[in-house]
Amino acid sequence: MGDQTRVAVVTGASRGIGKAVAMRLAADGRHVVLVSRSAGPLEAVKAEIEGAGGEASAVAADVGDRAAWAAALEGIVKERGRLDILVNNAGITRDNLLLRMSDEEWDEVVSVNLTSAFVGIRACARAMMKQRFGRIVNIASTSGLVGNSGQANYAAAKSGLVGLSKTVARELGGKGITCNVVAPGFIQTDMTANLPEDVTNKVKDMMAIKRLGEGGDIAAAVAYVTADDAGFLTGQVIAVDGGMTMY
Ligand code: NAP
Repeated sequence: MGDQTRVAVVTGASRGIGKAVAMRLAADGRHVVLVSRSAGPLEAVKAEIEGAGGEASAVAADVGDRAAWAAALEGIVKERGRLDILVNNAGITRDNLLLRMSDEEWDEVVSVNLTSAFVGIRACARAMMKQRFGRIVNIASTSGLVGNSGQANYAAAKSGLVGLSKTVARELGGKGITCNVVAPGFIQTDMTANLPEDVTNKVKDMMAIKRLGEGGDIAAAVAYVTADDAGFLTGQVIAVDGGMTMY
């Protein structure tokens, strides 16, 4: 690819797993475009990456707003002249038992966790096809693979990412574009910060590796599937969960 730096867009990069993925991809020499709704935290992550000698830019966008998210991606392609890696990581939970789950809780989670990935992939597919190179990663969850009580919306959205990814892998594989799923298990972030200790202990009991995961554990898998020489790896679901689900 000559001397052009690969451009990687990471959603939900203001904290947690997305931040760890962004830091890792930047350390691996990518120009990382950080996306989330909040400009302040994105600027802080950008400064951290630059402080470590990496390259980043920040774009505040709500991936749950289809038009705004597609426009943001089109702007990124225009500005940077390319888009090599898309990591659809932004996600939310609105947990409730099935009988109590509201339409709003369902719609919001499906919109942010699933529809945003479809919109994002569609918006950057053309640029990737032109380059004959692309690496797409959708961050799902083990909840989407085995289900989880109280998470009908979340598990359905995450499971939907698997079908979406396998289809994208088939449709775009001939153009040098891969699409894979990384499915985290239990990772220490804001999303899991408020779970009671007995729940986290139960989770640890189910794992082969007896510790909770960290953002860096997921970042390592994302770095692997987005590498230039990972072009033969596509349509796969990689559970990074300390051996909690082995299927
Ligand atoms: P987190 O700490 O809650 O961070 C979520 C990120 O998503 C934040 O950067 C947030 O930024 C961004 N975000 C949320 N809604 C957004 C929207 N509408 N538009 C743009 N950005 C949005 O979560 P996390 O634990 O790092 O999780 C990251 C991903 O991993 C999610 O997809 C999650 O489902 C998945 N996952 C996590 C675990 C776990 O154990 N932590 C397990 C399995 C899967 P702003 O608030 O600034 O917008």
